[in-house]
Amino acid sequence: MSKIIAIANQKGGVGKTTTSVNLGAGMATLGKRVLLVDIDPQGNTTSGVGVNKADVANCIYDILINEVDPQETILETRIEGLHIIPATIQLAGAEIELVSTISRELKLKKALNAVKANYDYIIIDCPPSLGILTINSLTAADSVIIPIQCEYYALEGLSQLLNTVRLVQKNLNPHLKIEGVLLTMLDARTNLGIQVIEEVKKYFQEKVYRTIIPRNVRLSEAPSHGQSIITYDSRSKGAEVYLELAKEVISYE
Ligand code: ADP
Ligand code: MG
Repeated sequence: MSKIIAIANQKGGVGKTTTSVNLGAGMATLGKRVLLVDIDPQGNTTSGVGVNKADVANCIYDILINEVDPQETILETRIEGLHIIPATIQLAGAEIELVSTISRELKLKKALNAVKANYDYIIIDCPPSLGILTINSLTAADSVIIPIQCEYYALEGLSQLLNTVRLVQKNLNPHLKIEGVLLTMLDARTNLGIQVIEEVKKYFQEKVYRTIIPRNVRLSEAPSHGQSIITYDSRSKGAEVYLELAKEVISYE
């Protein structure tokens, strides 16, 4: 049985991409077959696993707009068992181009159905908005992971996200679940982080992952080397916590 997980939060900079790449890499390291789907026009997941965007022939845009066979867009990465459907800046036009398309919310779901059987997990890295690309992701997904940065105003904007989840559940994908809430970028030296953890736990209760991602310089360096933390520095705290998260997510199968 494969599971499709969207990593979503319309706030930018909360750790969606870092989590997509490193959770995916962690799962693959644990022997799972994982497909990353980059549906953010910035394409940070794509470059984050070492794919050179200039060399990409077909990307997620071609799946959504040109009905290209998804299988033809899938690339391998340096981690065995970790594949990716890449995104390039071309995707920036999709939001507008999809407006006039029939069943525009269902494009990604249809495409992933065709490759789903080949993977244990499909992880979709959403853009920082609640537009049609995120709606496509939530419609295709079995569940959503919400990364929340341990900062002031951590819960701000979450009611819009949860509202969007409810709308998708009601109209497009009744079985969509909240897989879990992930606290990211914790600075253990401040009290603020502890306060945010308590606030988020009060709100989301048992949905909050036991694994909390601390701030770790190696995690922020890895993307510029086109690598997940697992290959960039397997002994770092970042690698340790994302492997732990991978185990935790897998345990909720
Ligand atoms: P999003 O995809 O939600 O916009 P990113 O994953 O791109 O967020 O993270 C935003 C920035 O913060 C990036 O530069 C990333 O490298 C950095 N970052 C993310 N998580 C951590 C972490 N745990 N420790 C240090 N830097 C991080
Ligand atoms: Mg991102």
